[in-house]
This record gives sequence, structure tokens and C-alpha cells, in this order.
Amino acid sequence: MALTGLEIYKQLPKKNCGECGTPTCLAFAMALASGKGSLDACPYVTDEAREALDSASAPPIKAIKFGNGSVLGDETVLFRHDKTFYHPTTLLIEIADTLSDEEVQGKLQEIEGLEFDRVGLHYTIDGVAVIEASGSPEQFAKVVAQVAAGTERSLLLLSDNADALKAALPGVAGRKPLIGSATEANYEAVVNLAKEHNVPVIIKADGLDALAALVENAQKLGYKEFVLDPGARTPSQTLANLTHCRRLAIKKKFRPFGYPVIAFTSKTEPLAEITEASVYVAKYASAIVLKASAKAHILPLMALRQNLYTDPQKPIQVEPILHTVGEVNENSPIYITTNFSLTYYSVEGEVEASKIPSYILPIDTDGTSVLTAYAAGKFEPEKIADILAKSGVGDKVNHRNLIIPGYVAVISGKLQEISGWKVIVGPRESSGIVSFTRAM
Ligand code: SF4
Repeated sequence: MALTGLEIYKQLPKKNCGECGTPTCLAFAMALASGKGSLDACPYVTDEAREALDSASAPPIKAIKFGNGSVLGDETVLFRHDKTFYHPTTLLIEIADTLSDEEVQGKLQEIEGLEFDRVGLHYTIDGVAVIEASGSPEQFAKVVAQVAAGTERSLLLLSDNADALKAALPGVAGRKPLIGSATEANYEAVVNLAKEHNVPVIIKADGLDALAALVENAQKLGYKEFVLDPGARTPSQTLANLTHCRRLAIKKKFRPFGYPVIAFTSKTEPLAEITEASVYVAKYASAIVLKASAKAHILPLMALRQNLYTDPQKPIQVEPILHTVGEVNENSPIYITTNFSLTYYSVEGEVEASKIPSYILPIDTDGTSVLTAYAAGKFEPEKIADILAKSGVGDKVNHRNLIIPGYVAVISGKLQEISGWKVIVGPRESSGIVSFTRAM
């Protein structure tokens, strides 16, 4: 969060000597607050003041980048409606180093197949977490190398054994994996290893007090590329830890918790595990390590993540132009809806399921749903008639029938009068489109 000029001024020497190029300390503070100039221009600023200014101007939760474009943290609010959440929870699927070569290959294939298209967006699983469970640094390094060769996705190398990390990391350091975990017992070796290879590292302790103390000790090693693991593995304690870390970082600016937090699921039954992971996506994991890797299990989690990490002030929208579903012809029906992605793609999916090639004309309602748009005066008969005329769909069909959402049946008469088209009131929900077309 940016500091005000007065907050900066309080930390300056107040000599008003002008050596920084501005006549007074206050003028210098104002220049810094507006992003002009550097604190280095004042030769008299103390180390304490520099530390305080650096610390106060740092974001509440540091951004940590690793792997193939994964970004953790850099969040500024507790609640999505306060502003927005910026970096969707990174989802990683675990592969234990005790699996056979064939099993690792099979798991990788399953992970590579986790690609989804939803409301016009494409999304995939973010990475793979290789877990050292063998007790053998050589085996861990071998499986890490096999996984790295089999996927371009982000990597997490996880072992509490510094020797295992030392064996596996050099071969994949160019992929900038996240490594862990630095614990009370090994943190000097593991943090120094991360520092040497310039990769981020998980700091793990049992409980928040121990974690804060360990982070402070680890920072003294001159490295701050950290991701936090508060240790708990039960859903209730993990949720409590995630919430405390976020609150303390955002509300209290408690610096030891100014880093992203990673969570690990404890459930083994896939649906229970996805339910558990959903809680962590909502509050407030920056990354989650999962066991489930079937499409049917991962898709709902990704849908939840997508919904939470859209900007509430900028709804996802589709282009408000004439769209086609299937091989349209002059008899194809025409559906009217809004350009809110969720609404549009719900309609499109059901029209597709009806197996009748059709036109869909989404009206530009600034990405709001049908009822919201109608209530806000953005789904008016005059506007729809105008867009209908400009779309040119009248030249493509040999009929003059329009299907409008059942929720706005009230506009049918006026729309018919203004447009000259016969207005048919469709179902209220898009889920009724298939049965509606059968009854037509
Ligand atoms: Fe103030 Fe430092 Fe500038 Fe002198 S050099 S006026 S002490 S800010």
C-alpha cells in the first residue's frame, strides 16, 4: 500500500538541507509519495527509517512466482467484494516418489488431460507436487527428473529431508520449482539451498506462533521468497490458520505472515477431498496440493476457483454479436439473451443439446444476467429491436420469430410491436430449452 507524503515525512531527518534536490524534507516526502525520486537521494536517512519505509510500502502479501507462470499471493483484501482477488489458487496434484515408473507416467497422462473450457475461458491444472516418501534422495531425484521430463507444468519438490532436495533440485532448477519444506530442524540448509538456486521455499512449522518465529529466523538468512505452511492437516485447523494468516497480514500488517500460504488436503475419498479443497480455495490458500486427478473431481473445484477469482466489478462477457450453434440455415430459430458469459454459455450449451442449429443474439447488458439487466433498463424492447435490425439476422432466415427468456415475458408485446417480429416467450431457465424445443 502506498504511503502518504506525511507518513514518509515522519521518517525523514528534517534537516531541510536541500541536498536531495528539493528545498525541504516535506517537499522531498511529497515527491516520493507521488513516485518521483528515490529515498537514496537523501544521504542522512537512517537504516531504521529506510527499513520502516520499505516495510510500510511493501504489499501486505508478497507475490511469489515459480514454475510455468504460477503466481502466489499479492492479495490486498479479505473479501472479494471489497475489491477483487488477483491470483487464483494454484492447484497442484501430488505424485509420490514411491510410485513405479509406469504409475508415474500414468498419473502424468491423467494430469496432462485436465484441460477445461468454461464460459469462454480455457483453464488447466497448474502443476505437479513430487512428494518424497521413499526416504531415498536418489529415488526422489529420479522421480523429480521423470516428472519434469513429462510435463511443462509448474513443479513443487516436497521433502523435509534437505539431502533429498539437494539431490533433486539442481537438475530442475531452471524450471524454477517451489521447494519445501524448511522446518525448525533444517531451515538453514533448505533456505540456503533455495537462495543458491533462486527458487521460492516453503517455511513449515506447527502452529502460527512457531511459524512466525521460524519466518523471522529464516529472513535473517537474507532471503524472503517464502510460502508458508502452518502445519495443520485437519480441515478446521487449516481453515483457522489460513484465515488468521490472511487477517494478520492484511489488517495488522504482521510482516512474518506477509507471504502466500499453501494448504494440503487430508481427505482421501475424492469427493470429500474436493469439498475440503473448496474451503481452502474460498479462504485463503494461495496454493493447494491435491491427490484427486480425475476430471469429474477437478472440474467443480476449478469452476469455484474461476467464480471467486473474477473481478466482481468486471463480469465476464461475450462479444455482443450474432453467434451460431451448429450448421445454421434459413429455418434456424433465434434466441435472445444477454452478454453475461455465464448466462450466454448456459444458453449455448442447452441450444447445443437441443440439436437444432440456431442463432443466439446476446444483447450488450454490460455483462449482467437477464433479470438484472431488465431491472437496470439494459434489456429494453427498443434496444433489442435496434440490435436485432443491425445484426443482419433478418437476411439470414426466412421467418420472423424471436425467442426471448421467460423471465422478461413482460417485454414481448412491445418488442413485437417495435421490431415487427413475432416474439415467442421461451423458458425462464436455460435448462428448459431442450424440452421447450421439443414442444415447439
Ligand atoms: Fe531533508 Fe534529506 Fe532532503 Fe536534506 S537531503 S532536505 S535531510 S530529505
